[in-house]
Amino acid sequence: MLGGTFDPVHLGHLRSAVELHEALALDRVHMVPAKVPPLRGAPRVTPEERLALLRLGIGDTPGLVADPRELERTGPSYSADTLASLREEYGPQARLIMALGHDAFLRLADWHSPQRLFELAHLVVIARPGNEEPLPAALGELIEGREVASPGVLMRRPAGHLLRLALPTRMAISATEIRQRLASGRSVRYLLPEAVEAQIRANSYYRRR
Ligand code: ATP
Repeated sequence: MLGGTFDPVHLGHLRSAVELHEALALDRVHMVPAKVPPLRGAPRVTPEERLALLRLGIGDTPGLVADPRELERTGPSYSADTLASLREEYGPQARLIMALGHDAFLRLADWHSPQRLFELAHLVVIARPGNEEPLPAALGELIEGREVASPGVLMRRPAGHLLRLALPTRMAISATEIRQRLASGRSVRYLLPEAVEAQIRANSYYRRR
C-alpha cells in the first residue's frame, strides 16, 4: 500500500511505486488516495478528481492499482483502517507492506494508532532527496527492535518489521512544488505524466483563484 494525498500524482510517486514493486517482488502496489488527509489542510481538488488523475497517471502500468477504498469510507482517512481492510481481503498470512516516503515517516508517531500499523503490516520507508534529518524521540521508541536490513528478512513474517529502502531512482519532485508551479504559470513538463498534466490544464486545477 502506498497511500497519499496525490494532489496531484507525479512521477516521484509513480516511479517509486514501480521500483518498489520490482525491489520487493510484490504482487501489486495499491495506490490509495486519502479522502480527508488527517494531518494537512483539505486539498482544493476533490478526492474523486485526485483519484481520476491517479488512474490517468497509472494507465496500464503493470502491478500498480488505483485503489478507491478510502473514498468509500466516511470520516478521516486513517491508514490503520485501510490496512485492516487490506488484511481482511488478503488474509492473515499475506505479507502486507505500507510504503511511505522519509518525510511522511518522520511524522509517523503523530498518526492515529501508529502501533496498530505494525500489527497489520510492515513499514517500508523510501529515501527521498533532502530528507536526512534525525528521527524524533517518539518515533525512535515506536520503531525500536523492528528494523531489518533486507527484503528477505522482511518477507519472513506477515507484519511488524521496518525496512529503509533506497530505490534506484530518487526524484526531488513534490506535489507542493507542482501546485506552486501551476499557480504561477510555470512549466510542470516531465514532473508528471502528460495525461495528468493535460487533465489538470483542461479543468484549470491548481490555478490561483
Ligand atoms: P505534498 O508536497 O503535497 O506534501 P507529496 O509530493 O509529498 O505531496 P503525497 O501525496 O503527500 O505527495 O505523498 C504520498 C507518499 O509518497 C508519501 O509517503 C510521500 O512521502 C511519498 N512521496 C512523495 N513524493 C515522493 C518522491 N518524489 N519520491 C519518493 N516518495 C515520494
